Amino acid sequence: MSQAAEKSSPKEMEKIVSLCKRRGFLFQSSEIYGGINGFWDYGPLGVELKRNVKEAWWQDMVVRHDDLNQLPGAPAAYSMTGLDCTIIMHPQVWKCSGHYDLFHDYMVDCRESKKRYRHDQINGRWVTAKGQRIFVTAQAGETQQEDMERQALKFFNLRAKNKDDLVWEGSATCLAEIDSTEQVLAPDAKSLNTLTEPREFNLMFKTTIGALGGEEDAAFLRPETAQGIFVNFKNVIDSTRFRLPLGIAQMGKSFRNEITPRNFTFRSREFEQMEIEFFCHPTQSHEWYQYWRDRRMKWYQDLGLAGERLQMREHSPEELSHYSTGTADIEYAFPFLNEGEFGELEGIAHRGDFDLRSHMEGKLDEKSNPLELQLGPDGKPKWRGSGKDLTYRDDLTNEKYTPHVIEPSAGADRATLAFLCEAYTEDEAPDEDGKMQSRVVMKLHPRIAPVKAAVFPLVKKDGMPEIAKQIYLNLKKKFNVFYDEKGAVGRRYRRQDEAGTPYCITVDTETLEKNTVTIRDRDSLQQYRVGVDEVLAAIEEKLA
Ligand code: ATP
Repeated sequence: MSQAAEKSSPKEMEKIVSLCKRRGFLFQSSEIYGGINGFWDYGPLGVELKRNVKEAWWQDMVVRHDDLNQLPGAPAAYSMTGLDCTIIMHPQVWKCSGHYDLFHDYMVDCRESKKRYRHDQINGRWVTAKGQRIFVTAQAGETQQEDMERQALKFFNLRAKNKDDLVWEGSATCLAEIDSTEQVLAPDAKSLNTLTEPREFNLMFKTTIGALGGEEDAAFLRPETAQGIFVNFKNVIDSTRFRLPLGIAQMGKSFRNEITPRNFTFRSREFEQMEIEFFCHPTQSHEWYQYWRDRRMKWYQDLGLAGERLQMREHSPEELSHYSTGTADIEYAFPFLNEGEFGELEGIAHRGDFDLRSHMEGKLDEKSNPLELQLGPDGKPKWRGSGKDLTYRDDLTNEKYTPHVIEPSAGADRATLAFLCEAYTEDEAPDEDGKMQSRVVMKLHPRIAPVKAAVFPLVKKDGMPEIAKQIYLNLKKKFNVFYDEKGAVGRRYRRQDEAGTPYCITVDTETLEKNTVTIRDRDSLQQYRVGVDEVLAAIEEKLA
Protein backbone atom coordinates (compact mmCIF):
# COMPACT_ATOMS: atom_id res chain seq x y z
CA MET A 1 0.00 0.00 0.00
CA SER A 2 1.14 3.54 -0.60
CA GLN A 3 2.28 5.62 2.31
CA ALA A 4 1.31 9.17 3.06
CA ALA A 5 2.37 11.04 -0.02
CA GLU A 6 4.68 14.03 0.22
CA LYS A 7 3.44 16.92 -1.89
CA SER A 8 5.78 18.96 -4.06
CA SER A 9 7.85 21.67 -2.43
CA PRO A 10 10.39 24.20 -3.76
CA LYS A 11 13.25 21.72 -3.61
CA GLU A 12 11.22 19.35 -5.76
CA MET A 13 11.03 21.65 -8.78
CA GLU A 14 14.36 20.34 -10.01
CA LYS A 15 13.05 16.79 -9.79
CA ILE A 16 9.92 17.76 -11.74
CA VAL A 17 11.97 19.46 -14.46
CA SER A 18 14.22 16.43 -14.72
CA LEU A 19 11.28 14.01 -14.89
CA CYS A 20 9.68 16.16 -17.62
CA LYS A 21 12.81 15.83 -19.74
CA ARG A 22 13.55 12.16 -18.91
CA ARG A 23 10.01 10.96 -19.61
CA GLY A 24 9.26 13.24 -22.56
CA PHE A 25 6.84 15.79 -21.15
CA LEU A 26 8.86 18.89 -22.02
CA PHE A 27 12.07 19.68 -23.87
CA GLN A 28 13.90 22.94 -24.36
CA SER A 29 13.24 24.21 -27.88
CA SER A 30 16.13 23.66 -30.33
CA GLU A 31 18.09 21.96 -27.57
CA ILE A 32 20.76 20.47 -29.85
CA TYR A 33 21.78 24.04 -30.74
CA GLY A 34 21.98 25.08 -27.11
CA GLY A 35 18.29 25.96 -26.76
CA ILE A 36 16.50 29.26 -27.19
CA ASN A 37 15.43 31.18 -24.14
CA GLY A 38 11.69 31.32 -23.46
CA PHE A 39 10.62 28.59 -25.91
CA TRP A 40 9.61 25.03 -25.01
CA ASP A 41 8.62 21.88 -26.89
CA TYR A 42 6.13 19.31 -25.63
CA GLY A 43 7.36 15.73 -25.96
CA PRO A 44 5.28 12.58 -26.58
CA LEU A 45 3.71 12.58 -23.10
CA GLY A 46 3.54 16.37 -22.83
CA VAL A 47 1.65 16.84 -26.07
CA GLU A 48 -1.07 14.44 -24.91
CA LEU A 49 -1.28 16.10 -21.51
CA LYS A 50 -1.58 19.62 -22.93
CA ARG A 51 -4.09 18.52 -25.57
CA ASN A 52 -6.17 16.93 -22.82
CA VAL A 53 -6.07 20.14 -20.76
CA LYS A 54 -7.19 22.19 -23.76
CA GLU A 55 -9.80 19.62 -24.73
CA ALA A 56 -11.20 19.56 -21.17
CA TRP A 57 -11.48 23.36 -21.27
CA TRP A 58 -13.18 23.39 -24.69
CA GLN A 59 -15.55 20.56 -23.80
CA ASP A 60 -16.48 21.97 -20.39
CA MET A 61 -16.79 25.61 -21.45
CA VAL A 62 -18.20 25.30 -24.99
CA VAL A 63 -19.34 21.89 -26.30
CA ARG A 64 -20.99 20.40 -23.22
CA HIS A 65 -22.27 23.72 -21.90
CA ASP A 66 -25.97 23.50 -21.02
CA ASP A 67 -27.48 26.58 -22.63
CA LEU A 68 -31.08 25.65 -21.86
CA ASN A 69 -30.95 25.86 -18.09
CA GLN A 70 -29.80 28.43 -15.57
CA LEU A 71 -26.65 26.96 -14.03
CA PRO A 72 -25.96 27.25 -10.28
CA GLY A 73 -24.62 30.73 -9.52
CA ALA A 74 -25.41 32.10 -12.99
CA PRO A 75 -27.79 35.08 -13.22
CA ALA A 76 -29.49 33.51 -16.29
CA ALA A 77 -29.13 30.78 -18.91
CA TYR A 78 -26.45 31.66 -21.47
CA SER A 79 -24.93 30.46 -24.74
CA MET A 80 -21.33 29.58 -25.59
CA THR A 81 -19.62 29.30 -28.95
CA GLY A 82 -16.11 29.38 -30.38
CA LEU A 83 -13.76 31.04 -32.86
CA ASP A 84 -10.37 30.34 -34.37
CA CYS A 85 -8.78 33.61 -35.54
CA THR A 86 -5.46 34.34 -37.20
CA ILE A 87 -2.27 35.04 -35.30
CA ILE A 88 -1.47 38.03 -37.51
CA MET A 89 -4.24 40.60 -37.60
CA HIS A 90 -4.67 44.10 -39.00
CA PRO A 91 -2.11 46.33 -37.23
CA GLN A 92 -4.88 48.78 -36.27
CA VAL A 93 -6.26 46.10 -33.92
CA TRP A 94 -3.21 46.49 -31.68
CA LYS A 95 -3.33 50.27 -31.83
CA CYS A 96 -6.93 50.32 -30.59
CA SER A 97 -6.32 47.57 -28.01
CA GLY A 98 -3.47 49.54 -26.46
CA HIS A 99 -0.78 46.93 -27.11
CA TYR A 100 0.97 49.04 -29.75
CA ASP A 101 1.60 51.94 -27.37
CA LEU A 102 3.11 49.63 -24.80
CA PHE A 103 5.38 48.33 -27.51
CA HIS A 104 7.03 51.71 -27.85
CA ASP A 105 7.33 52.60 -24.22
CA TYR A 106 10.41 52.44 -22.09
CA MET A 107 9.65 50.53 -18.95
CA VAL A 108 11.38 50.03 -15.61
CA ASP A 109 10.79 47.12 -13.28
CA CYS A 110 10.94 47.32 -9.50
CA ARG A 111 12.94 44.38 -8.20
CA GLU A 112 11.29 44.68 -4.80
CA SER A 113 7.58 45.22 -5.54
CA LYS A 114 7.77 43.41 -8.91
CA LYS A 115 5.78 46.28 -10.42
CA ARG A 116 6.53 47.69 -13.85
CA TYR A 117 6.22 51.37 -14.68
CA ARG A 118 6.51 53.51 -17.73
CA HIS A 119 9.80 55.34 -17.31
CA ASP A 120 8.36 58.65 -18.45
CA GLN A 121 5.41 58.39 -16.07
CA ILE A 122 7.32 58.35 -12.82
CA ASN A 123 7.99 61.69 -11.22
CA GLY A 124 10.05 62.40 -8.15
CA ARG A 125 11.47 65.04 -5.83
CA TRP A 126 14.61 65.23 -3.76
CA VAL A 127 13.85 65.21 -0.07
CA THR A 128 16.11 65.23 2.98
CA ALA A 129 15.37 64.02 6.52
CA LYS A 130 17.42 62.54 9.36
CA GLY A 131 20.59 63.55 7.47
CA GLN A 132 19.77 61.49 4.35
CA ARG A 133 18.84 62.84 0.89
CA ILE A 134 16.76 60.62 -1.39
CA PHE A 135 14.79 60.96 -4.62
CA VAL A 136 11.28 59.84 -3.70
CA THR A 137 8.98 58.96 -6.60
CA ALA A 138 5.33 58.41 -7.43
CA GLN A 139 3.35 57.68 -10.56
CA ALA A 140 2.46 60.85 -12.41
CA GLY A 141 -1.03 62.07 -11.60
CA GLU A 142 -3.16 64.25 -9.38
CA THR A 143 -2.13 62.56 -6.15
CA GLN A 144 1.57 62.36 -6.90
CA GLN A 145 2.65 64.86 -4.19
CA GLU A 146 0.55 63.08 -1.53
CA ASP A 147 1.92 59.72 -2.70
CA MET A 148 5.51 60.99 -2.51
CA GLU A 149 4.95 62.38 0.95
CA ARG A 150 3.48 59.09 2.16
CA GLN A 151 6.44 57.19 0.68
CA ALA A 152 8.96 59.58 2.25
CA LEU A 153 7.34 59.40 5.70
CA LYS A 154 7.38 55.62 5.55
CA PHE A 155 10.98 55.48 4.41
CA PHE A 156 12.23 57.83 7.14
CA ASN A 157 9.95 56.19 9.69
CA LEU A 158 8.21 59.47 10.51
CA ARG A 159 4.63 60.06 11.61
CA ALA A 160 2.31 62.25 9.55
CA LYS A 161 2.35 64.93 12.26
CA ASN A 162 6.15 65.24 11.73
CA LYS A 163 5.90 65.85 8.01
CA ASP A 164 7.63 69.20 8.48
CA ASP A 165 10.83 67.25 9.17
CA LEU A 166 10.89 66.49 5.44
CA VAL A 167 12.88 69.11 3.55
CA TRP A 168 11.78 69.12 -0.10
CA GLU A 169 13.84 70.55 -2.98
CA GLY A 170 12.55 72.01 -6.24
CA SER A 171 9.45 70.78 -8.04
CA ALA A 172 8.62 67.31 -9.35
CA THR A 173 10.99 66.03 -12.03
CA CYS A 174 10.58 63.09 -14.37
CA LEU A 175 12.61 60.04 -13.37
CA ALA A 176 13.98 59.97 -16.93
CA GLU A 177 15.99 63.09 -16.07
CA ILE A 178 17.82 61.54 -13.14
CA ASP A 179 21.27 60.09 -13.93
CA SER A 180 21.73 57.53 -11.19
CA THR A 181 19.06 55.38 -9.55
CA GLU A 182 21.08 54.76 -6.37
CA GLN A 183 19.14 57.24 -4.23
CA VAL A 184 15.79 56.56 -5.93
CA LEU A 185 12.90 55.26 -3.86
CA ALA A 186 10.52 53.52 -6.31
CA PRO A 187 6.75 54.25 -6.00
CA ASP A 188 5.94 51.00 -4.19
CA ALA A 189 9.30 50.05 -2.65
CA LYS A 190 10.60 50.20 0.90
CA SER A 191 14.31 50.38 0.03
CA LEU A 192 16.38 52.49 -2.34
CA ASN A 193 17.75 51.52 -5.75
CA THR A 194 15.29 48.80 -6.68
CA LEU A 195 14.53 49.96 -10.23
CA THR A 196 16.07 48.33 -13.28
CA GLU A 197 17.52 50.31 -16.16
CA PRO A 198 14.80 51.50 -18.56
CA ARG A 199 14.17 49.03 -21.35
CA GLU A 200 12.15 49.22 -24.48
CA PHE A 201 9.22 46.98 -23.83
CA ASN A 202 9.20 44.78 -26.91
CA LEU A 203 5.98 43.11 -25.93
CA MET A 204 4.90 42.24 -29.45
CA PHE A 205 7.00 40.33 -31.97
CA LYS A 206 7.17 42.33 -35.15
CA THR A 207 7.11 40.79 -38.60
CA THR A 208 6.69 41.92 -42.18
CA ILE A 209 3.93 41.10 -44.64
CA GLY A 210 4.84 40.64 -48.29
CA ALA A 211 8.13 41.03 -50.10
CA LEU A 212 8.83 44.76 -49.88
CA GLY A 213 9.18 44.98 -46.13
CA GLY A 214 8.66 48.68 -45.57
CA GLU A 215 7.37 50.10 -42.28
CA GLU A 216 3.84 50.17 -43.76
CA ASP A 217 4.04 46.36 -44.14
CA ALA A 218 4.85 45.83 -40.47
CA ALA A 219 2.58 43.44 -38.59
CA PHE A 220 2.63 41.78 -35.19
CA LEU A 221 2.21 38.30 -33.80
CA ARG A 222 -0.78 38.48 -31.46
CA PRO A 223 0.11 38.91 -27.77
CA GLU A 224 -3.34 37.60 -26.77
CA THR A 225 -6.19 35.77 -28.46
CA ALA A 226 -8.85 38.09 -27.00
CA GLN A 227 -8.75 40.77 -29.69
CA GLY A 228 -9.74 38.27 -32.40
CA ILE A 229 -12.97 37.74 -30.47
CA PHE A 230 -13.75 41.45 -30.06
CA VAL A 231 -13.24 42.26 -33.73
CA ASN A 232 -15.45 39.30 -34.73
CA PHE A 233 -18.25 40.02 -32.24
CA LYS A 234 -20.52 41.48 -34.93
CA ASN A 235 -19.76 38.64 -37.35
CA VAL A 236 -20.76 36.05 -34.76
CA ILE A 237 -24.00 37.85 -33.87
CA ASP A 238 -24.92 38.45 -37.54
CA SER A 239 -24.12 34.91 -38.74
CA THR A 240 -25.81 32.98 -35.93
CA ARG A 241 -29.02 33.17 -33.94
CA PHE A 242 -27.23 33.64 -30.64
CA ARG A 243 -28.63 36.21 -28.26
CA LEU A 244 -26.85 37.76 -25.30
CA PRO A 245 -25.67 36.71 -22.77
CA LEU A 246 -23.13 34.93 -24.96
CA GLY A 247 -19.59 33.70 -24.36
CA ILE A 248 -17.17 33.35 -27.28
CA ALA A 249 -14.17 31.13 -26.63
CA GLN A 250 -10.89 30.84 -28.45
CA MET A 251 -7.68 29.01 -27.76
CA GLY A 252 -4.41 29.30 -29.59
CA LYS A 253 -0.87 30.56 -29.69
CA SER A 254 0.10 33.95 -28.35
CA PHE A 255 3.52 35.56 -28.41
CA ARG A 256 5.13 38.01 -26.02
CA ASN A 257 8.70 39.08 -26.16
CA GLU A 258 9.04 38.73 -22.40
CA ILE A 259 12.06 40.56 -21.00
CA THR A 260 12.78 37.84 -18.49
CA PRO A 261 11.38 34.47 -19.56
CA ARG A 262 11.81 32.14 -16.61
CA ASN A 263 10.47 29.45 -14.35
CA PHE A 264 10.22 26.69 -16.92
CA THR A 265 7.14 27.24 -19.12
CA PHE A 266 5.56 29.70 -16.67
CA ARG A 267 6.87 32.75 -18.49
CA SER A 268 7.50 31.78 -22.11
CA ARG A 269 7.73 33.88 -25.25
CA GLU A 270 5.45 31.58 -27.21
CA PHE A 271 2.52 30.09 -25.33
CA GLU A 272 -1.10 29.09 -25.65
CA GLN A 273 -4.06 30.87 -24.20
CA MET A 274 -7.62 29.74 -23.56
CA GLU A 275 -9.77 32.85 -23.47
CA ILE A 276 -13.47 33.61 -23.18
CA GLU A 277 -15.06 36.97 -23.87
CA PHE A 278 -18.46 36.91 -22.26
CA PHE A 279 -20.85 39.57 -23.60
CA CYS A 280 -23.76 40.63 -21.42
CA HIS A 281 -26.08 43.48 -20.48
CA PRO A 282 -24.25 46.21 -18.49
CA THR A 283 -26.67 46.01 -15.56
CA GLN A 284 -25.95 42.30 -15.05
CA SER A 285 -22.20 42.43 -15.67
CA HIS A 286 -21.07 42.40 -12.06
CA GLU A 287 -23.16 39.32 -11.28
CA TRP A 288 -21.71 37.62 -14.35
CA TYR A 289 -18.22 38.55 -13.20
CA GLN A 290 -18.84 36.78 -9.91
CA TYR A 291 -20.28 33.76 -11.68
CA TRP A 292 -17.25 33.39 -13.99
CA ARG A 293 -14.76 33.85 -11.18
CA ASP A 294 -16.30 30.97 -9.24
CA ARG A 295 -16.97 28.82 -12.32
CA ARG A 296 -13.34 29.01 -13.43
CA MET A 297 -12.00 28.30 -9.95
CA LYS A 298 -14.15 25.18 -9.78
CA TRP A 299 -12.82 23.98 -13.13
CA TYR A 300 -9.26 23.77 -11.78
CA GLN A 301 -10.48 22.13 -8.58
CA ASP A 302 -12.45 19.51 -10.49
CA LEU A 303 -9.34 18.60 -12.47
CA GLY A 304 -7.26 18.02 -9.38
CA LEU A 305 -5.87 21.36 -8.16
CA ALA A 306 -8.00 21.05 -5.10
CA GLY A 307 -5.56 21.78 -2.31
CA GLU A 308 -4.35 24.91 -0.62
CA ARG A 309 -1.80 25.52 -3.35
CA LEU A 310 -4.65 26.99 -5.40
CA GLN A 311 -6.11 30.36 -4.46
CA MET A 312 -8.29 33.13 -5.80
CA ARG A 313 -6.96 36.65 -5.33
CA GLU A 314 -9.38 39.52 -5.81
CA HIS A 315 -7.68 42.72 -6.89
CA SER A 316 -8.13 45.60 -4.46
CA PRO A 317 -10.24 48.59 -5.61
CA GLU A 318 -7.03 50.62 -6.12
CA GLU A 319 -5.71 48.02 -8.57
CA LEU A 320 -8.85 48.15 -10.75
CA SER A 321 -9.39 50.31 -13.81
CA HIS A 322 -12.26 52.65 -12.98
CA TYR A 323 -14.45 51.02 -15.68
CA SER A 324 -14.07 47.60 -14.07
CA THR A 325 -16.07 46.37 -11.08
CA GLY A 326 -13.76 43.45 -10.45
CA THR A 327 -10.69 41.47 -11.41
CA ALA A 328 -9.53 38.26 -9.80
CA ASP A 329 -6.55 36.04 -10.44
CA ILE A 330 -6.62 32.31 -9.96
CA GLU A 331 -3.17 31.52 -8.66
CA TYR A 332 -1.10 28.46 -7.89
CA ALA A 333 1.79 28.10 -5.45
CA PHE A 334 4.29 26.75 -7.98
CA PRO A 335 7.20 24.97 -6.32
CA PHE A 336 9.73 27.34 -7.92
CA LEU A 337 8.25 30.28 -6.01
CA ASN A 338 9.19 31.29 -2.49
CA GLU A 339 7.10 30.07 0.42
CA GLY A 340 3.79 31.98 0.45
CA GLU A 341 4.10 33.20 -3.14
CA PHE A 342 1.60 32.35 -5.89
CA GLY A 343 1.78 32.62 -9.70
CA GLU A 344 -1.14 33.56 -11.97
CA LEU A 345 -2.90 30.76 -13.86
CA GLU A 346 -5.82 32.80 -15.08
CA GLY A 347 -7.18 36.31 -14.78
CA ILE A 348 -10.93 36.98 -14.72
CA ALA A 349 -11.62 40.62 -15.51
CA HIS A 350 -14.69 42.77 -15.76
CA ARG A 351 -13.75 44.92 -18.77
CA GLY A 352 -16.93 46.97 -19.14
CA ASP A 353 -17.40 48.21 -22.71
CA PHE A 354 -13.77 49.36 -23.05
CA ASP A 355 -12.76 46.94 -25.84
CA LEU A 356 -15.83 47.08 -28.06
CA ARG A 357 -15.94 50.87 -27.83
CA SER A 358 -12.20 51.15 -28.59
CA HIS A 359 -12.72 49.11 -31.75
CA MET A 360 -15.72 51.25 -32.71
CA GLU A 361 -14.66 54.77 -31.78
CA GLY A 362 -10.88 54.59 -31.44
CA LYS A 363 -8.52 53.80 -28.58
CA LEU A 364 -10.06 55.04 -25.34
CA ASP A 365 -8.08 56.60 -22.56
CA GLU A 366 -8.10 54.04 -19.75
CA LYS A 367 -7.59 56.75 -17.16
CA SER A 368 -10.54 58.90 -18.24
CA ASN A 369 -13.81 58.69 -16.34
CA PRO A 370 -16.24 58.43 -18.09
CA LEU A 371 -14.19 56.86 -20.87
CA GLU A 372 -13.11 59.29 -23.57
CA LEU A 373 -11.09 58.98 -26.73
CA GLN A 374 -7.35 59.13 -26.19
CA LEU A 375 -6.03 62.14 -28.06
CA GLY A 376 -2.66 62.60 -29.76
CA PRO A 377 -0.44 65.70 -29.45
CA ASP A 378 -2.43 67.32 -32.30
CA GLY A 379 -5.66 67.03 -30.29
CA LYS A 380 -7.05 64.43 -32.71
CA PRO A 381 -7.87 60.81 -31.76
CA LYS A 382 -4.57 59.01 -31.21
CA TRP A 383 -5.75 55.80 -32.94
CA ARG A 384 -8.88 55.67 -35.04
CA GLY A 385 -11.34 52.81 -34.52
CA SER A 386 -13.08 50.80 -37.23
CA GLY A 387 -16.11 53.08 -37.29
CA LYS A 388 -18.27 49.93 -37.42
CA ASP A 389 -21.28 49.60 -35.15
CA LEU A 390 -20.46 46.93 -32.57
CA THR A 391 -23.52 47.57 -30.43
CA TYR A 392 -26.18 44.92 -29.88
CA ARG A 393 -29.92 45.16 -30.35
CA ASP A 394 -32.04 42.89 -28.19
CA ASP A 395 -34.73 41.63 -30.55
CA LEU A 396 -37.20 41.02 -27.71
CA THR A 397 -36.96 44.36 -25.91
CA ASN A 398 -35.62 46.32 -28.88
CA GLU A 399 -33.03 47.83 -26.55
CA LYS A 400 -29.72 48.78 -28.21
CA TYR A 401 -26.58 48.83 -26.10
CA THR A 402 -22.84 48.21 -26.08
CA PRO A 403 -22.40 44.93 -24.22
CA HIS A 404 -20.18 44.70 -21.18
CA VAL A 405 -17.54 42.00 -21.19
CA ILE A 406 -16.26 39.53 -18.63
CA GLU A 407 -12.95 38.01 -19.67
CA PRO A 408 -11.72 34.73 -18.14
CA SER A 409 -8.24 34.51 -19.67
CA ALA A 410 -6.22 31.36 -18.96
CA GLY A 411 -2.86 30.01 -20.07
CA ALA A 412 -2.79 26.42 -21.34
CA ASP A 413 0.92 26.08 -20.55
CA ARG A 414 0.63 27.46 -17.03
CA ALA A 415 -2.35 25.20 -16.33
CA THR A 416 -0.42 22.20 -17.68
CA LEU A 417 2.58 23.10 -15.53
CA ALA A 418 0.39 23.44 -12.44
CA PHE A 419 -1.18 20.03 -13.09
CA LEU A 420 2.31 18.54 -13.47
CA CYS A 421 3.54 20.11 -10.23
CA GLU A 422 0.43 19.08 -8.30
CA ALA A 423 0.66 15.53 -9.65
CA TYR A 424 4.30 14.92 -8.72
CA THR A 425 4.33 12.60 -5.72
CA GLU A 426 6.95 10.45 -4.03
CA ASP A 427 5.67 7.49 -2.07
CA GLU A 428 6.30 3.77 -1.64
CA ALA A 429 4.94 0.75 -3.44
CA PRO A 430 5.70 -2.96 -3.07
CA ASP A 431 7.93 -4.65 -5.68
CA GLU A 432 7.38 -8.20 -7.04
CA ASP A 433 8.64 -9.70 -3.75
CA GLY A 434 6.33 -7.52 -1.68
CA LYS A 435 9.22 -5.35 -0.47
CA MET A 436 8.42 -1.62 -0.21
CA GLN A 437 10.32 0.51 -2.69
CA SER A 438 10.19 4.25 -3.17
CA ARG A 439 8.44 5.36 -6.32
CA VAL A 440 7.72 8.55 -8.21
CA VAL A 441 4.12 8.78 -9.34
CA MET A 442 2.36 11.48 -11.34
CA LYS A 443 -1.11 11.55 -9.85
CA LEU A 444 -2.71 13.29 -12.82
CA HIS A 445 -6.50 13.38 -13.01
CA PRO A 446 -7.47 10.47 -15.33
CA ARG A 447 -9.18 12.94 -17.68
CA ILE A 448 -5.92 14.72 -18.45
CA ALA A 449 -3.49 11.79 -18.04
CA PRO A 450 -1.54 11.38 -21.32
CA VAL A 451 -1.99 7.58 -21.40
CA LYS A 452 -5.23 6.21 -19.96
CA ALA A 453 -4.19 2.58 -19.60
CA ALA A 454 -1.20 0.31 -20.21
CA VAL A 455 -1.53 -3.35 -21.17
CA PHE A 456 1.11 -5.93 -20.15
CA PRO A 457 1.49 -9.67 -20.66
CA LEU A 458 3.05 -10.97 -17.41
CA VAL A 459 5.58 -12.98 -19.47
CA LYS A 460 6.42 -13.06 -23.15
CA LYS A 461 5.15 -16.59 -23.74
CA ASP A 462 2.26 -19.02 -23.28
CA GLY A 463 0.03 -16.94 -25.55
CA MET A 464 -0.10 -14.03 -23.09
CA PRO A 465 1.26 -11.41 -25.54
CA GLU A 466 -1.42 -12.36 -28.09
CA ILE A 467 -4.26 -11.81 -25.60
CA ALA A 468 -2.67 -8.58 -24.30
CA LYS A 469 -2.25 -7.21 -27.83
CA GLN A 470 -5.89 -7.93 -28.58
CA ILE A 471 -6.98 -6.01 -25.46
CA TYR A 472 -4.59 -3.21 -26.37
CA LEU A 473 -5.96 -2.83 -29.91
CA ASN A 474 -9.50 -2.92 -28.61
CA LEU A 475 -8.86 -0.13 -26.08
CA LYS A 476 -6.87 1.90 -28.62
CA LYS A 477 -10.02 2.53 -30.62
CA LYS A 478 -11.28 4.64 -27.74
CA PHE A 479 -8.29 6.17 -25.96
CA ASN A 480 -4.56 6.55 -25.81
CA VAL A 481 -3.16 3.26 -24.47
CA PHE A 482 0.31 1.74 -24.23
CA TYR A 483 1.53 -1.81 -24.77
CA ASP A 484 4.65 -3.05 -22.99
CA GLU A 485 6.07 -6.56 -22.74
CA LYS A 486 9.70 -5.74 -21.89
CA GLY A 487 11.34 -6.30 -18.50
CA ALA A 488 10.01 -7.20 -15.06
CA VAL A 489 6.37 -6.30 -14.56
CA GLY A 490 7.22 -4.21 -11.47
CA ARG A 491 9.51 -2.05 -13.60
CA ARG A 492 6.76 -1.65 -16.18
CA TYR A 493 4.36 -0.47 -13.47
CA ARG A 494 6.95 2.08 -12.27
CA ARG A 495 7.35 3.52 -15.76
CA GLN A 496 3.61 3.97 -16.07
CA ASP A 497 3.43 5.55 -12.59
CA GLU A 498 5.96 8.15 -13.72
CA ALA A 499 3.95 8.81 -16.88
CA GLY A 500 0.78 9.26 -14.81
CA THR A 501 -1.07 6.32 -16.41
CA PRO A 502 -4.04 5.69 -14.09
CA TYR A 503 -4.67 1.99 -14.95
CA CYS A 504 -2.47 -0.98 -15.82
CA ILE A 505 -4.01 -4.15 -17.20
CA THR A 506 -2.03 -7.38 -16.83
CA VAL A 507 -2.57 -10.69 -18.60
CA ASP A 508 -1.31 -13.56 -16.41
CA THR A 509 -1.73 -17.33 -15.92
CA GLU A 510 -5.22 -16.87 -14.53
CA THR A 511 -6.16 -15.19 -17.81
CA LEU A 512 -5.35 -18.44 -19.60
CA GLU A 513 -7.51 -20.43 -17.18
CA LYS A 514 -10.39 -18.08 -16.36
CA ASN A 515 -10.26 -15.43 -19.10
CA THR A 516 -9.82 -12.59 -16.56
CA VAL A 517 -7.13 -9.90 -16.21
CA THR A 518 -6.00 -7.64 -13.36
CA ILE A 519 -6.58 -3.91 -13.38
CA ARG A 520 -4.16 -2.03 -11.11
CA ASP A 521 -5.08 1.43 -9.84
CA ARG A 522 -2.12 3.84 -9.93
CA ASP A 523 -3.03 5.76 -6.76
CA SER A 524 -4.50 3.15 -4.43
CA LEU A 525 -2.32 0.33 -5.87
CA GLN A 526 -5.34 -1.93 -5.52
CA GLN A 527 -5.70 -4.71 -8.07
CA TYR A 528 -8.85 -6.53 -8.99
CA ARG A 529 -9.92 -8.90 -11.74
CA VAL A 530 -12.35 -8.39 -14.57
CA GLY A 531 -13.25 -10.56 -17.55
CA VAL A 532 -11.23 -9.96 -20.73
CA ASP A 533 -14.43 -8.89 -22.48
CA GLU A 534 -15.23 -6.38 -19.74
CA VAL A 535 -11.95 -4.45 -19.79
CA LEU A 536 -13.09 -1.74 -22.18
CA ALA A 537 -16.31 -1.10 -20.26
CA ALA A 538 -14.44 -1.07 -16.93
CA ILE A 539 -11.89 1.52 -18.12
CA GLU A 540 -14.59 3.59 -19.79
CA GLU A 541 -16.57 3.65 -16.58
CA LYS A 542 -13.54 4.79 -14.58
CA LEU A 543 -12.77 7.59 -17.01
CA ALA A 544 -16.37 8.79 -17.26
P1 ATP B 1 1.81 38.00 -15.97
O1 ATP B 1 1.44 39.17 -15.06
O2 ATP B 1 2.17 36.76 -15.22
O3 ATP B 1 2.77 38.37 -17.05
P2 ATP B 1 -0.49 38.73 -17.41
O4 ATP B 1 -1.36 39.32 -16.34
O5 ATP B 1 0.26 39.59 -18.32
O6 ATP B 1 0.49 37.64 -16.75
P3 ATP B 1 -2.65 38.08 -19.10
O7 ATP B 1 -2.34 39.13 -20.08
O8 ATP B 1 -3.81 38.30 -18.18
O9 ATP B 1 -1.36 37.73 -18.25
O10 ATP B 1 -2.80 36.70 -19.88
C1 ATP B 1 -3.73 35.71 -19.50
C2 ATP B 1 -3.06 34.39 -19.20
O11 ATP B 1 -2.14 34.04 -20.23
C3 ATP B 1 -2.21 34.41 -17.92
O12 ATP B 1 -3.01 34.21 -16.78
C4 ATP B 1 -1.27 33.25 -18.17
O13 ATP B 1 -1.87 32.02 -17.83
C5 ATP B 1 -1.07 33.30 -19.67
N1 ATP B 1 0.22 33.96 -19.96
C6 ATP B 1 0.45 35.29 -20.06
N2 ATP B 1 1.74 35.52 -20.33
C7 ATP B 1 2.35 34.32 -20.39
C8 ATP B 1 3.69 33.88 -20.65
N3 ATP B 1 4.65 34.76 -20.91
N4 ATP B 1 3.95 32.55 -20.65
C9 ATP B 1 2.98 31.65 -20.41
N5 ATP B 1 1.71 32.00 -20.16
C10 ATP B 1 1.37 33.31 -20.15
